[in-house]
Amino acid sequence: MFENLSDRLTSVFSNLRSKGRLSENDIAATAREIRVALLEADVALPVVKDFIEKIKERARGAEVSQALNPAQQVVKIVNEELIEILGGETRRIRFAKNPPTVIMLAGLQGAGKTTLAGKLARWLKEEGHTPLLVACDLQRPNAVTQLQVMGERAGVQVFAPEPGNGVGDPVRVAQASIAEAKRSLHDVVIIDTAGRLGIDTEMMQQAIDIRQATQPDEILFVVDAMVGQDAVNTAQAFMDGVGFDGVVLTKLDGDARGGAALSVRHITGRPIMFASTGEKLEDFDVFHPDRMAGRILDMGDILTLIEQAQRTFDEEQATKMAGKLASGEDFTLDDFLDQMMMIRKMGPIGNLLGMLPGMGQMRQQIDQIDDKDLDRVAAIIRSMTPGERAEPKIINGSRRARIAKGSGVTVGEVNSLVTRFFSAQKMMKQMAGGMGLPGMPGVRR
Ligand code: GDP
Repeated sequence: MFENLSDRLTSVFSNLRSKGRLSENDIAATAREIRVALLEADVALPVVKDFIEKIKERARGAEVSQALNPAQQVVKIVNEELIEILGGETRRIRFAKNPPTVIMLAGLQGAGKTTLAGKLARWLKEEGHTPLLVACDLQRPNAVTQLQVMGERAGVQVFAPEPGNGVGDPVRVAQASIAEAKRSLHDVVIIDTAGRLGIDTEMMQQAIDIRQATQPDEILFVVDAMVGQDAVNTAQAFMDGVGFDGVVLTKLDGDARGGAALSVRHITGRPIMFASTGEKLEDFDVFHPDRMAGRILDMGDILTLIEQAQRTFDEEQATKMAGKLASGEDFTLDDFLDQMMMIRKMGPIGNLLGMLPGMGQMRQQIDQIDDKDLDRVAAIIRSMTPGERAEPKIINGSRRARIAKGSGVTVGEVNSLVTRFFSAQKMMKQMAGGMGLPGMPGVRR
């Protein structure tokens, strides 16, 4: 996401690196380059204008600093202003004092509302809530079934109209869902509403009726980041129509320029609250303006990486692995597979690497890393017998040929895996033998 913008901005900064101090001309030239980068990324003109004005003003007034060279100062200013444009502070959901908290989703058809409903439900559940998904998109064929599938995947109950009982009236369904949530103790209700392909008065009126009937605590406007400048117009229309409290950007995984998304907050004054980056339920996160700015400026997003790791690795697994290390027991191919699957669960490898600082420049190489490689390695290990996994030394030539055949790879691939495993095993031995384990006082061999 935002790759082009990111590339452009980092190249602007690298041009500045050689300068000892910034003249008025340098500032003007830099501002021009940033302006072009933003416009090319589809950021709306009024937003660009404001942004550039602020950068110029602050760059001129920037004090000569001992700590930062001119390029670093410009990066710092751009970073701070970018965070501001993206909304400043992270905006969290406001939960109602008296449950259920009602969250209503609004947006055009195809924006990703139904998918988002599932993602949000899963996320809320992980946060300890008991959400109820409500199917009020009774227009699009299959929308109800789609929501039911989402609910099943998220492990969250779905409230949908029973045939013959108010079918076709989303307002009644929405109202009934709140009574149901109270009755069955759901503390959050997520209402999926119908969208149209374009702005349409009937659709907007329906959204307004649902709003009036349910008095949502949060109305989230869901917008596809790939639609470019239209995102801004659509946002404005929804703002004037049903109104909303926060924005969810979807499809940030696409190779869109994405700048329109950067404009929505500035134009509507409503914060971006969540971002969606794929079709899977896990491809979703709270939107943090500071972290996003960091990613755009290729400063990395270590915090998100750490959080993903924490969410993925449960305590038990970590303790088991640490205990294994501490005891000096042999590190087996099963452990190797476990570790790999833990990393695989964190999401696409490319996304993970992309969160490290300075990785922007290596994007091409990262794009070539294929998650399927990990799956192939897993397939190879799974084709081994338990004995082979526990004692990889016994894997001789004929066993390798059998394993290759079983997992549909070449003997060369099996060889390379076994070699890699032995060097991992050696490293684990050294770690276990050479140092105490962090956070586990006294555990030392
Ligand atoms: P709705 O009409 O607003 O309910 O939209 P849907 O939830 O049905 O989504 C429309 C399409 O976009 C579906 O094919 C989804 O799988 C896809 N989609 C939703 N969110 C994302 C996302 O973040 N990334 C990608 N790549 N696809 C998404």
